[in-house]
Amino acid sequence: MATSAAELRGSHFRKAATPNTGNLGKQSTSNMQDLLDCPVCFTMMYPPIFQCPNGHTLCSQCRARVKNSCPICRGELGNIRCLALEKIAESIELPCMYQSAGCGDIFPYYSKPKHEENCKYRPYNCPYAGAECSVTGDISLLIKHLKNDHKVDMHDGCTFNHRYVKSDAGEIDNATWMLTVFNCFGRQFCLHFETFFIGMSPVYMAFLRFMGTEDEAREFSYSIEVGGNGRKLTWQGVPRSIRDSHQKVRDSQDGLIIQRNLALFFSGGDRQELKLKVSGRIWKEQ
Ligand SMILES: [Zn+2]
Ligand SMILES: [Zn+2]
Ligand SMILES: [Zn+2]
Ligand SMILES: [Zn+2]
Repeated sequence: MATSAAELRGSHFRKAATPNTGNLGKQSTSNMQDLLDCPVCFTMMYPPIFQCPNGHTLCSQCRARVKNSCPICRGELGNIRCLALEKIAESIELPCMYQSAGCGDIFPYYSKPKHEENCKYRPYNCPYAGAECSVTGDISLLIKHLKNDHKVDMHDGCTFNHRYVKSDAGEIDNATWMLTVFNCFGRQFCLHFETFFIGMSPVYMAFLRFMGTEDEAREFSYSIEVGGNGRKLTWQGVPRSIRDSHQKVRDSQDGLIIQRNLALFFSGGDRQELKLKVSGRIWKEQ
């Protein structure tokens, strides 16, 4: 421990943390990283870091779980902070955990988690709405997953024309229709259709999410149209990144909202059955 700490004080270290370094630098970074891994749960330790009287370190989550008995030596744990390790952590810099996905940034140990929460290379959540799905991954993995596991319809083209039907529309308060995905400009867009309440009013909402980052999403626009009986509603918007959950987009009402009465009027018939024709177009902003 003493040796590693001394090494860290040298000016070599900061350089050593960058990708183009000699073996020595890499060696000490990875040794430090090992030291900062909790020996019990193997995740990186952040203050407060604890140790038993024999010097076995562990993270604060594990400490709360082990009930005052050191998981390594079984000795009584007590309440000893490992300030030396906390200090060492302050002086080291590590690459983002999504380095292999393309992030080239390097961070001081303590600010790394904050970056990783928002790193644009972090995996995406599955965009499927309706059921809880915990699958995460990059876009190509999620496309396969949507096709294979959720049996989602995939369409090629930048215009769409879709029917949403429900025979007992008046009785459904909260529902999510099957997701549809469009391949357009070589990218993927998810068309969502849901019904819920805004205050006391039952509404339907159609909106588009983009499978990519927020910045990329802003390069596109889309329009959605719905109508019948000679009337028409149109919405023009910017697709939201799937970084924003469908729930979040819905709560922000960033899409075409149709009051239930109007939707049933558009549907024709006896005002019980929903039969909405939703059409739209996606284009690239110059
Ligand atoms: Zn732990
Ligand atoms: Zn111990
Ligand atoms: Zn990153
Ligand atoms: Zn899924």
